[in-house]
Amino acid sequence: MLLGAHVGIGGGFTNAITAGEEIDADIIQVFTRNQMQWKAKPIEEEASAEFRKAFRASSLKAIVAHGSYLTNLASPEKKTLGMSIGAVVEELGRCAQLGIGIYIFHPGSHVGKGDRKGELTEAESIKNVLSRTDGMHVKLALEIMAGQGNVICHDFGAIANVLGMVGSERLGVCLDTCHLFAAGYDLRDGESVSATMGQFKREIGMRRLLAVHLNDSKGDLGSRKDRHENIGKGKIGREGFSALMHYPGLARVPMALETPGGTKYRQEIALLRKL
Ligand SMILES: [Zn+2]
Ligand SMILES: [Zn+2]
Repeated sequence: MLLGAHVGIGGGFTNAITAGEEIDADIIQVFTRNQMQWKAKPIEEEASAEFRKAFRASSLKAIVAHGSYLTNLASPEKKTLGMSIGAVVEELGRCAQLGIGIYIFHPGSHVGKGDRKGELTEAESIKNVLSRTDGMHVKLALEIMAGQGNVICHDFGAIANVLGMVGSERLGVCLDTCHLFAAGYDLRDGESVSATMGQFKREIGMRRLLAVHLNDSKGDLGSRKDRHENIGKGKIGREGFSALMHYPGLARVPMALETPGGTKYRQEIALLRKL
């Protein structure tokens, strides 16, 4: 398994690598800039070179990036859409500079215009982003959402629709276990994990799975609440995560924890390995 967690870049990008090694991770997830601000200073060439060097020298096997929380590639408003596309293009450039091959992003919200319209806008935006980053070897992983509010892409059908409209090998999927469960996909035991992943295989395909977020869920099955809980302490529970750890096809997919109180990452990674 490629287990790890989301770690901070405060004080410099290379600190994330040290943090990853301290929690005994195989992989880490980082933001490439402040996720709550539109503007970011360009990364100095020296800092990115140092980061790539530190990664090569580390025990980490992969690094994935998580996009800004502000972008909405499904927005019906021209200004927000333009800013979002610009920000994603910029972040992909930062990933390329840092040597990060996978960029995970939230699909965003249709803001009242309906799921199908949102998916159409999403696909158009992604195509725009891809054409503006042509030649960059960074893949995009659209993250499944819990289904809160007007957020789009909380089911495999919607994601398959966007993937189909975009039609690019650079676009894949990130599955978040909390979001899946809150969206109504059961993961509580071996049988339900097999059923959910089987459905993913049929509707989207394992080839498209670029990353996984490992989070237990505070909310019930189908609650549509995006509330992460520590592994084994939520409504999914240990049995569900044990089944996921043994699910064939997940062994090579980077899996990052985003559970509350990040100080427990080391124990949670150890627990997942034991399961
Ligand atoms: Zn996310
Ligand atoms: Zn979440």
